[in-house]
Amino acid sequence: MTLELVPPQVRSMVEAARADPEGFWARAARALPWLRPWDRVFRRDGASFRWFEGSLTNLCANALDRHVEAGRAGRAALVYASERGDRRVLTYGQLLHLVRRLSASLRGLGVRRGDRVTVYMPTCPEAIALMLACVRVGAVHSVVFAGFGAGALADRVRASGSRWVFTADVTYRKGVQVPLKGIVDEALRQVTGGVEGVVVLQRSPEGSPLEPGRDLSWDRFLAKAEGQSSDFEPMEANEPAYILATSGTTAKPKLAVHTHGGYQVGIHSAGRWCFGLKPDDVWWSTSDIGWVVGHSYIVYAPLLAGCTTVAYEGALDFPGPETPWRIVEELRVTGIFTSPTAVRLLMKYGEEPALRYDRSSLERVVCAGEVLNPPAWEWLQKRVLQDRVPVIDHWWQTETGGPVIGNPYGVAQLPIKPGSAGMPLPGMEVAVMTPEGEECGPGERGILVIRRPFPSLTPALWGEPERYAQDYWQRIPGRDVYFTGDAAQVDPDGYVWFAGRADEVIKIAAHRIGTIEVETAFLKHPAVAEAGVVGRPDEVRGEVISAFLVLKQGYEPSVALRQELLDTVRRELGPVAVVGEVNFVSMLPKTRSGKIMRRVLRSVILGRDPGDITTIEDEGSVEEARAAWRQLQAELSR
Ligand code: AMP
Repeated sequence: MTLELVPPQVRSMVEAARADPEGFWARAARALPWLRPWDRVFRRDGASFRWFEGSLTNLCANALDRHVEAGRAGRAALVYASERGDRRVLTYGQLLHLVRRLSASLRGLGVRRGDRVTVYMPTCPEAIALMLACVRVGAVHSVVFAGFGAGALADRVRASGSRWVFTADVTYRKGVQVPLKGIVDEALRQVTGGVEGVVVLQRSPEGSPLEPGRDLSWDRFLAKAEGQSSDFEPMEANEPAYILATSGTTAKPKLAVHTHGGYQVGIHSAGRWCFGLKPDDVWWSTSDIGWVVGHSYIVYAPLLAGCTTVAYEGALDFPGPETPWRIVEELRVTGIFTSPTAVRLLMKYGEEPALRYDRSSLERVVCAGEVLNPPAWEWLQKRVLQDRVPVIDHWWQTETGGPVIGNPYGVAQLPIKPGSAGMPLPGMEVAVMTPEGEECGPGERGILVIRRPFPSLTPALWGEPERYAQDYWQRIPGRDVYFTGDAAQVDPDGYVWFAGRADEVIKIAAHRIGTIEVETAFLKHPAVAEAGVVGRPDEVRGEVISAFLVLKQGYEPSVALRQELLDTVRRELGPVAVVGEVNFVSMLPKTRSGKIMRRVLRSVILGRDPGDITTIEDEGSVEEARAAWRQLQAELSR
């Protein structure tokens, strides 16, 4: 890979990491304090590996105590904001005080080092403090997104072997009160044994009924602190801090493990190098604590950096599309971490709501989760931010804990190529290979693999060492590489371009086209807000493109529009991109983390059962896609 476009500061880091990876990560680790230094930086045995072996640390202590001890107790640590207009500020001193209290309460409840605790709560201060408290006492939290239903929750409680479940009576979304406690009751009816109790935070005036003998109110839980220690446990670097289900849709959830040591070093380093996180930031990650982004970049990395983190509960466009911009102005937000799905959501309303608010505090916007298609990038970069600050894409997964491919903005910014996620960050060694293990040259598409473990890479799936080895390290025969499952190519400048999941590539007359390229082409037409495409089997060409499109406000489906869309795709991608049909829908099937579920669209056009859809955001989207598909078939046969 060429390093021509890489600024000298970044280049020297990349070269140092290549020459001596262990020395490189040891230096990165020394940016944080340790209770005891490691005996060995890295040890590997087949698919299993350990970082900073023998060292003692505690992720919570480095996120909180350290700043308070350094005299920064009065700095705002957490600002909670919600769609209902609530605001709550906790300083480092106040957050540590709350976390200490919850730690003592956890001990009073009988929670011990290594015990798993399920957190099925909205993104609110109590939930964040609880996560930190679990980590403080050496327990392992397992946060389940509070938008999942009872089945998905039951699976995750079972897989984690949690003894305790923490929940709230309700969360608020789009002005609606969503009952959570009822879902916990239903889920626990499906889990036999293991769970000793449920702790309930009552937030609504009505509250929710408690089951005698099993459920505990938040106040009764707090009362358990009496006589208990609130000190942190010194943890060996490889002990788990938390487990989190990957966003995959396999029937049995995969629980990725993240540790006290390696994970801490990885997210802290990436936070500085990729996002430029610094103590005077007001950092707003618009994600949710239910996802890895919420763990790493709402909670842990911003607090490790000593900055102010904003936690938001609710829908970004509620009560209206100006909500995010109002928060930016009010809190003087300096950095936003968001997702392409959020950008496309806001883009639907146009830039006018943003332009009404002062965005001058912003220094950068970073974005991950899916490809940030150039039209969406351009809208945010040019129309909303008027090219004043960069919009930076970066790539990672639940399993990687933090960014792997990105733009080292915090060290020295690379020129941005819209549509590319950037380059491997310092210390990351990646390659693109065919499924048979042959390395692809520049511009050739294959599967992105990672050549060696880095500190925040998940070292295990909870309780499933064989599955971990098979799913990640043994997928490419004869090659000892970590399999990401994503199709990608690297251009001659070393930039990585993602094309979708490897199993979603469309093959038209022997040409391989990534779903992302086609979706991006559709998004270039001003009428299109969102696009999801899949391959449909075709006798002549192997496959043709079947597209599902959501139109922006003010546009209606018509024969003329359909033709314009086909012309746009042809102009962008050439005649190889044969579009079989365009279906218009009002929403796409998406996971609750906002990723388009193309396999569901494929099941629609093949007339098959969609399989496991427990992670879907809105089941109505499947029915809608089916109806659009049926209507189109009826029109075509006329
Ligand atoms: P999750 O584990 O839920 O964070 O999902 C990880 C998956 O999201 C990756 O394997 C990619 O398929 C996709 N993804 C995340 N970030 C990006 C990005 N910047 N560009 C393209 N795909 C991305």
